[in-house]
Amino acid sequence: MIEYDIPLCPGPTHVPESVRQAYLRDYASPDQEPEYAELYAEVQGQLQQILATKNRLAIMTGEGMIGLWGALKSCLCPGDRVLAVSSGVFGHGIGEMARAVGARVEFVEFPYHEVLRPEPVEQAIRRFSPKMVTAVHCETPSGTLNPVHLVGQLVHQHAVPLFYVDAVASAAATPVQTDAWGIDLCLVGNQKALSAPPDLAAVAVSDRAWDVIREVRYTGYDALLPFDEALQRRWFPYTPAWASLAALNQAARLVLKEGLESVYRRHREAAGICRERARDMGLELFCDEAAASPSVTALRVPDTMAWDTLRARLADQGLGVGGSLGPLADKVFRIGHMGSQARVELVQRGMDVIERVLGTR
Ligand SMILES: *Cc1c(COP(=O)(O)O)cnc(C)c1O
Repeated sequence: MIEYDIPLCPGPTHVPESVRQAYLRDYASPDQEPEYAELYAEVQGQLQQILATKNRLAIMTGEGMIGLWGALKSCLCPGDRVLAVSSGVFGHGIGEMARAVGARVEFVEFPYHEVLRPEPVEQAIRRFSPKMVTAVHCETPSGTLNPVHLVGQLVHQHAVPLFYVDAVASAAATPVQTDAWGIDLCLVGNQKALSAPPDLAAVAVSDRAWDVIREVRYTGYDALLPFDEALQRRWFPYTPAWASLAALNQAARLVLKEGLESVYRRHREAAGICRERARDMGLELFCDEAAASPSVTALRVPDTMAWDTLRARLADQGLGVGGSLGPLADKVFRIGHMGSQARVELVQRGMDVIERVLGTR
């Protein structure tokens, strides 16, 4: 199916009409026109508000993963020590990616239905003295929200050079306090709560991370280094996607016009209704309520129906939800009440369909 009546997939999320319209102009050459650099500066300012940071951003063509890879490759040399805090598919995956880049990686593992706890992280930092600690704010596949600020405190206390945080599925859904939490590399993508098309990633880079990036001098399509002076020099490492940036600009404008507090409240309300309805129809939340993210709800696939069947029947009724990934595939399904989809009325309609299909009404 290309399009659902009731879109509740945890990414890509429904792209609002005005964002799609912004995409549709016939844009000139971004390398030549000063308007592109002006737009870049404007979007950087918008993302700085959403991420509560003064840091400059690298806005790259590609989705979230390009930022995740680029930030690792731009900051790490072979043999550098990385401590990967893992309580889910992405937390673990980022550690594997750092290993692929040649880093020496240690994991602090937590069960996927739980969130990180600071004590084991602190022990590992003391023992391992990493150059970088990585963590994931919202673990989308398991629907949890990690208290990454607690890791930020430890990074600060123990003078770890770099704190890398994947905020792809939390930014614009719940507060991400980049500067207050001491995040050096804050990673976001277009297609989750920002509800723009899946084609841009952004990384908010702290001054000390820029210093490391200049030292490491990684070159490659996903390198952050060229973005250090991109705006100043009006020189981008490849032809940027102007239409994509215009769409992101409009998406961010919608978020900021509504106001961040109101956006966050809308997410909490949508999440609350989703979980209340799920409980009422006897569905089991994958994680504890206290660990659950306001942007996505992970539910156990009921014993009475296999995931493939459930997915197909929901789709028949116009409802798009997500399966899960890695060890959670076929065991967990997910409702993405994030961004444009964080609306009580939409979630109610989705839960009506699930209730009907599971035959509990
Ligand atoms: C979606 C997601 C990504 C990856 O983003 P892509 O858009 O697939 O490139 C990374 N981290 C988290 C937590 C995500 O939810």
